[in-house]
Amino acid sequence: MFRGLTLFTLLIAAVVLGPGVHTTRAQNPGPPDRPAVTVRGQTYTPRSILARNMGTPEDQTTAFAPHKVVGNIYYVGTRTLSSFLVTTPQGHILVNTTYERNVPTIEKSVAQLGFKFSDIKFIIGNHAHGDHQEGDALARQMTGAQVVAMAEDVPALQAIKPGGKEHPVDRVIRDGESVTLGGTTLVAHLTAGHTRGCTAWTTSVQEGGRSYNVVFYCSLRAPGKISPEVETEFNRSFKIARSLPCDVPLGDHPAQYNMHAKHAKLQGGGANPFIDASNCTAEADIQEAMFRAGLEEQKGAQP
Ligand SMILES: [Zn+2]
Repeated sequence: MFRGLTLFTLLIAAVVLGPGVHTTRAQNPGPPDRPAVTVRGQTYTPRSILARNMGTPEDQTTAFAPHKVVGNIYYVGTRTLSSFLVTTPQGHILVNTTYERNVPTIEKSVAQLGFKFSDIKFIIGNHAHGDHQEGDALARQMTGAQVVAMAEDVPALQAIKPGGKEHPVDRVIRDGESVTLGGTTLVAHLTAGHTRGCTAWTTSVQEGGRSYNVVFYCSLRAPGKISPEVETEFNRSFKIARSLPCDVPLGDHPAQYNMHAKHAKLQGGGANPFIDASNCTAEADIQEAMFRAGLEEQKGAQP
């Protein structure tokens, strides 16, 4: 009786909550609220991680204060979708265009920092999902930059066609290859799983007479249903993510590296909060715990 009543209450709640939920997740019901994992005292579920990454629709399209991260690397993205500008004397590299509707916002952030959007020579990205690379075609149109993509992500990129626009791919690279411009080299590391060609980019920067390793990590968030191929990819990718030399962890969503809290610390002066080697594997720890718990649950559910 009590159970039935609870279920009835939940059904009512679902009906009451229904419209609000449906406006933001029209096609996608979103990930479930289990399994739950606790990492460094924080509890996460697939749903809470997605909410943490994406925020509200407004968060996804509102510029976050553009700022210098470290060396020649700048943040030019929105509150929840990362975009980075890597500046050089011979032009710039843009990492993640995010949604196409954000490209003018990114252009404005680049200008606010005193750089020219039209000086972008390369457009690279972390992975072939619309919230990170939908804007590639428009950004290329506006700059004439080359779009460089990991081979394994090319099919998924080509399926992203905002307004019917073909997704440009000017150069296809493989794991370990790099992009060099004006003395800066970004090396591509395949960390597949979230997408087939999920790419972590590494570089080193100079600041205050010291050199720092920077990693633009690709999302390590596993899908709801983990196929044997994806399982193999993630097992490899977690090892790679942990082995990359890292002093400055960055991510395709700001929440993956606590950007908001670190940016707040910038105001106080003192040491650069983005230099944070002790947290380089924090996101891998969360995502691997979730991946293992998801696999367990999936295997337990099999007949
Ligand atoms: Zn994604």
